[in-house]
Amino acid sequence: MTEHMRAARLHAINTPMVIEEVERPVASGNDVVVEVKACGLVPNLANVLNNWESWYPHQPLPPKPAIFGLDPAGIVRAVGEQVVAIKPGDRVYVNPLRSCGACHACASGEQAKCDYFTFCGYFGFNEKSLDVYARYPGGGFAEFMSAPQGAIVKIPDNLSFVQAARLGYLGTSYSALKKCGILAGKSLVINGATGTLGVGATIFALAMGVAKIYAVARGEPLLERLKQLAPGRIETFSNAKGYAADWVKSRTAGLGADFMVDCLGAVADVAALKDAMMGVRRGGRIINIGGTGSDMALNTKWWMDNSMQLIGSAWFTTAEGMEMAEMVRSGVVDLSILEARAFPLDRVNEAINGAASGDGGFTSYVLEL
Ligand SMILES: [Zn+2]
Repeated sequence: MTEHMRAARLHAINTPMVIEEVERPVASGNDVVVEVKACGLVPNLANVLNNWESWYPHQPLPPKPAIFGLDPAGIVRAVGEQVVAIKPGDRVYVNPLRSCGACHACASGEQAKCDYFTFCGYFGFNEKSLDVYARYPGGGFAEFMSAPQGAIVKIPDNLSFVQAARLGYLGTSYSALKKCGILAGKSLVINGATGTLGVGATIFALAMGVAKIYAVARGEPLLERLKQLAPGRIETFSNAKGYAADWVKSRTAGLGADFMVDCLGAVADVAALKDAMMGVRRGGRIINIGGTGSDMALNTKWWMDNSMQLIGSAWFTTAEGMEMAEMVRSGVVDLSILEARAFPLDRVNEAINGAASGDGGFTSYVLEL
C-alpha cells in the first residue's frame, strides 16, 4: 500500500506554496529515505522561486508541482538494498548536490564539475538537471525525501537538526576557504562579510587559523557584531565610507591581503566586488561564492602581471560536509552563536519571505517539521 506524507509544493511561480498530501518516497538501490526534521531557507530562495526562470532561463527549476527545500536534516528511516554503512536511525544532513556519479569529475570527488551538477530542491545548471530531477524530485519541504547515500553526512549529537539545516551556505564558505589554501598566518578579505555566506566564512576562517580577516560590508552594526567573534583578528570596514581596496592596503603596508572570498549576493553592485579585489596582493587568490549576476570589466593585464588567481566555487562536497560535522563535534567551530527563526511547514510562505528580508548572516530561517 502506498504511504503518504505532507509536503509544501509550488504549482506556479509567483504563487504561494500549497501544503498537500503526496506519495511518500521509497528507498531502493543506493538510496536512503530521510524523515526531514528541519530544512533551511537560504536568502536567495525567493529569487529562485520568483525570478530564476526569467533571470537565468538556462538553469531549470524542478518540474512543477515542485517540492523545494535545499538544506534538509533529519533521521534516516529506510535504506536501499545496496546501502551498508548508513542505518535507519542515523541523524544526518542531506547534501543537495546531485551529480551523475559516473563521470571523471564524479570519480575524482569533484561533483561540482559534473555536467549533471544539480541542486535538489532548488535549481539545476543546465537541461541535464531535468534527468536528475526525474530521479530525485523532492527537496526538504516535506516530511520525507529520498537521497543517494553519497549525499549523506552523519551529524554529531551536539549539532541540532535546526543548526544542521544551515550547513549548505556554511559548507559553501568552508569549501571556498579550502580553495584559498592554508590560511595559517595569512590574511583574508571577506567581501559581503555580514551576510549568510560572509558570517560562515568568518567562523570557519578563524577555526582554520587565519591570522587576519579584513571584513568588508555596508552596515556598521553587523560589522561590529562580527568583529566581536575575534576582536584581535578581525578588522572591519564599511564600504559605504570609501574604497575597500584603499583600506586593506592601508592596513597591509600597501601590499594587500593574501586571499579574498567574495560573498556578495545575486543583485549586489559588482563595483563593490571589483573594489575589494583590488585589495588582494600580488599572487593572491580570489574565490567567488556570492554569484553576483553581472558582467564586470577587469583589466586583464593586471590579472596576468600580478599572477592573480580567480576561482569560482559552487557549493561543497559531501566529504567537506563530513569535515564540518567533525569540526562541530570536536568543538573546533561553535555554531551556537548563530540564531535560527523556525517555522512549521504550514507557514512555509512566511518563512520564505522572512529569509529574503536580509536581516543579516547571524540569523537563519528554517522549517522545523
Ligand atoms: Zn558526474
